[in-house]
Amino acid sequence: MTGQLVIGNWKMHGSIGKIRSVLPELARAKLGSNVAVCIPYPYVMLAKSLLKDSQVQVGAQDVSEYHVGAYTGAVSASMLADIGCELVIVGHSERRRYFGESSENAARKLRACLDAGLFPVYCVGEDADERASGRHKEIIAAELAVLRGLPIGLYAVAYEPSWAVGTGVIATSAQIAEMHAFIKETLEPRTRVLYGGSVKGSNAEEVLAVDGVDGVLVGGAALSASEFLEICMAAR
Ligand code: 13P
Repeated sequence: MTGQLVIGNWKMHGSIGKIRSVLPELARAKLGSNVAVCIPYPYVMLAKSLLKDSQVQVGAQDVSEYHVGAYTGAVSASMLADIGCELVIVGHSERRRYFGESSENAARKLRACLDAGLFPVYCVGEDADERASGRHKEIIAAELAVLRGLPIGLYAVAYEPSWAVGTGVIATSAQIAEMHAFIKETLEPRTRVLYGGSVKGSNAEEVLAVDGVDGVLVGGAALSASEFLEICMAAR
């Protein structure tokens, strides 16, 4: 995965029909391995087969922090690797908000991914109140604290302020540049940092031109082949 990364997060959207309509278009576009789609678990193997002649990578949106055992309903990192997954999103703001996940849970999931040879994308971000009260850096620093000591290069961080996720309100270029610089200063300058939150075909070029942006994590716009391709074409 070199160059700017473009990762689609399908969230809990899609069906066999939808996957069969979108992914072959991505396969035909001859995209590189810097592009990935994180698909709901039941469709991962279908996605792998539809993308088999393409370099587009397939990922999942969550994983268990446990390796194996009596954890009803959970899916392990080694299972994901077994079915051909290459990357996994961990600690997404929706996992934190709706499923009560902490940064500690997400860090354990990240380690489980590394053990299985998967590339984790660890999400951080403040909410609207935290930004309004000027606490955004403090929040991000606390979310990053769990990553100390992990090998650089084996994972990426996604800066996704939750006020920009699914809202159509994108962070400004200045806010993105400031937060990406802060994340790199806090961890290590070589850490790959992606931006996520209302990235669309129409704003991708501007976001991807911001200093310190190593890629984008795309929600809603990843569900349309034409829009996702427009974003892929904006990556350098
Ligand atoms: P949207 O692109 O729909 O705002 O979602 C962003 C996101 O949560 C990607 O993980």
